Amino acid sequence: MKFKNKVVVVTGASRGIGQSVCVAFAKEGATVVGVARSALAETDDKVKAAGGTFVANSADLGMGTQKESADVIAQILAKTGQIDVLVNNAGIIRRAPAKDFSEADWNAVIATNLNAPFFLMQAVGKWWIETGRTKAPETARLKLVNIASLLSFQGGITVPAYAASKHGIAGVTKALSNEWAKERINVNAIAPGYIATENTKALREDPVRNKAILDRIPEGRWGAAEDIAGGCVFLASGDSDYLNGAVLNIDGGWMGR
Ligand code: NDP
Repeated sequence: MKFKNKVVVVTGASRGIGQSVCVAFAKEGATVVGVARSALAETDDKVKAAGGTFVANSADLGMGTQKESADVIAQILAKTGQIDVLVNNAGIIRRAPAKDFSEADWNAVIATNLNAPFFLMQAVGKWWIETGRTKAPETARLKLVNIASLLSFQGGITVPAYAASKHGIAGVTKALSNEWAKERINVNAIAPGYIATENTKALREDPVRNKAILDRIPEGRWGAAEDIAGGCVFLASGDSDYLNGAVLNIDGGWMGR
């Protein structure tokens, strides 16, 4: 019960990796705040079944503006009074050859995957620093965890905006950790490998890409959303207090190959 009396905010909590992350924190006794556009009832049920408390906070992070993100954090703080962990997981992908890639798709991906996570971290970090929490006991820390990607390191195929956004979030992770380690804020990221969720449905349904991907993964299988959750719990726990600006690959061995 490492997260008893802790409030963990998870964006993109309605399904996939985000939902599994919510359940993993629930097993550790957390109050989990789930953010997404669509219904959060399924996540609510799973969190409660795992022993946690769930707070739904419906919001659309797709504009990626500073105000939108600050409003979401303010709404959550009004409900819970505190935030101990933020997992920036919500993300979208749009596929098209670079020469045809639309401005609308480019802007949507950058806004959701890069702008919103930065402004959410800015709002939580500002609250943490300005309410004097940096002077609380050493055990009280703010943990910020970004869900990056293997495309934080590689270019991918016909996903230029996604690769740009994920390279960007890896950079922001390092930038904020440089500035905020002294404030007792840990900023780290996870780069998931190929995980079987809605996000990768098109790849799994393409026999050529599916085989090429599986052939390169030493573990020989697609990852499950649950494979990512344990890393999030580690990066949010006291076990990682001396870890800052890291991007942890959880990828069945893909990057080592
Ligand atoms: P899913 O498509 O299954 O889930 C995405 C989540 O993000 C949903 O809960 C969705 O909720 C939420 N979301 C999307 N847009 C918005 C928005 N505008 N406002 C609020 N919430 C939003 O994807 P995954 O679980 O696979 O992906 C989760 C994260 O992991 C993403 O950042 C993705 O890039 C990253 N990732 C995934 C990999 C994979 O192989 N699956 C590999 C590497 C990284 P809703 O639609 O209800 O709003």
